[in-house]
Amino acid sequence: MTRAIPVGLGGRAYEVLVGRDLLDQAGARIAPFLKRPRTAVVSDETVWRLHGERLTAALTAAGIEAHPVIVAPGEQTKSFEGLADVTDRLLALELDRGDIVTAFGGGVVGDLAGFAAAVYKRGIDFVQIPTTLLAQVDSSVGGKTAIDTPRGKNLVGAFHQPRLVLADLSVLDTLSEREMRAGYAEVIKYGLLGDRDFFEWLEANGGKVLTREPGALAHAVARSIEMKAEIVAEDEREQGRRALLNLGHTFAHALEAETGYGATLLHGEAVGVGQALAFRFSAELGLCSGQDAERATRGIAAAGLPVRLAETPGHPFDAGRLVHHMAQDKKAEGGKLTFILARGLGRAFTARDVDAEAVRRFLVAEGARG
Ligand code: NAD
Repeated sequence: MTRAIPVGLGGRAYEVLVGRDLLDQAGARIAPFLKRPRTAVVSDETVWRLHGERLTAALTAAGIEAHPVIVAPGEQTKSFEGLADVTDRLLALELDRGDIVTAFGGGVVGDLAGFAAAVYKRGIDFVQIPTTLLAQVDSSVGGKTAIDTPRGKNLVGAFHQPRLVLADLSVLDTLSEREMRAGYAEVIKYGLLGDRDFFEWLEANGGKVLTREPGALAHAVARSIEMKAEIVAEDEREQGRRALLNLGHTFAHALEAETGYGATLLHGEAVGVGQALAFRFSAELGLCSGQDAERATRGIAAAGLPVRLAETPGHPFDAGRLVHHMAQDKKAEGGKLTFILARGLGRAFTARDVDAEAVRRFLVAEGARG
């Protein structure tokens, strides 16, 4: 069964389709958006090796020429060099304003190809075919595209909404268990930030999601996308509620900065421990009950994600350095620290003017070096 989830953005509205055989229908699904029957497919070597043939066959069957633009897997590809390489190859293919880029991969490919589409010839359309759990439930929806610079992650980018998102659950069959867990951190985030019932459903069914039991996986992905779509439709440019999607991310980005944004600590793993820290910090500040913080922590730990600094790769961390990274974060305005904190399960809110010293003390109590 295919589910269609609308992202209500007026003239830039689009649908996210969730189902098991969408890759085989990609040609027919993308064709209505094409002015001529060709598309550049940006993908990484791993995804292309595993699933490229299937996508090419689907596009060819619909009479669409697929021109692969294959990049190296990994965060380092989301760079100015990666952008120069992809845009140069799009130019060599003579893509014009009426053509479409197809982003076929995880969040790295989606962010890079989406940003390339945003700036190529002042902007051309693109379609997302996300292939990781994280990309399906988060990065492919909402139009944030970016590359990293040596000064930090996602610092150069654009809002550029896709025309269509095809989330094919069957491509997740080849994803490693570690990447499944990393994506699950973003799934549980939706429950923790705004839907207690979903959090409770995950407490009972999270194991089935991780083992890719089709019904459970479909529900978790669809519910996550539904929440993301609703939040994005209400606040596309992150002036308000969209910031809640950053639950756990201020802690996470600091930990990632310390571990080098790589395989040591995956983004989703950092988001796992980051959310546990955000809940315990909320409890520490008297905003949420210790019981809720403990339950959030247990829910994240049950997926095999880190929830304590001591079990997070890169430990021991230096509290002062972590706070320094937080102050550099683009979400820090006027030197004050902004955090997404919680008043309980499913009740996140934006806390501005958080005292950096209180954060530092909390991190020391959590096991960081003073
Ligand atoms: P990724 O794109 O690096 O993919 C992870 C790994 O899985 C890669 O090695 C990839 O080759 C492999 N892979 C992808 N699909 C596969 C499949 N089906 N089978 C087997 N292997 C597969 O990482 P990610 O976790 O998908 O995305 C992380 C990126 O997303 C980060 O750069 C982060 O900043 C970004 N992000 C963006 C947003 C946004 O709103 N734009 C939101 C969250 C995260």
